[in-house]
Amino acid sequence: MLNRSGKYFHHRNNTNGNHDSICNGCFLTVATASEEFELAPLEDSHVCDPVRVYQVSEYAHRALANLNHNLGISQAREDRN
Ligand SMILES: [Zn+2]
Repeated sequence: MLNRSGKYFHHRNNTNGNHDSICNGCFLTVATASEEFELAPLEDSHVCDPVRVYQVSEYAHRALANLNHNLGISQAREDRN
């Protein structure tokens, strides 16, 4: 969900009725509220930690490389796409 400050957040509805907001940049849960509309101002104040964003990016890159390796997809094939 694109919030009013132009950042993307995923909203998760918990079984206890609360709503979580998860940053799509760093994947942290940045806010929890009883009403979904209460998440927006909390999201606005979130700033991703650049170190965490780098770590998440590196982890995703390694996970994709491992998946491609396990599926037998070569790097050359990835580069053509
Ligand atoms: Zn973030």
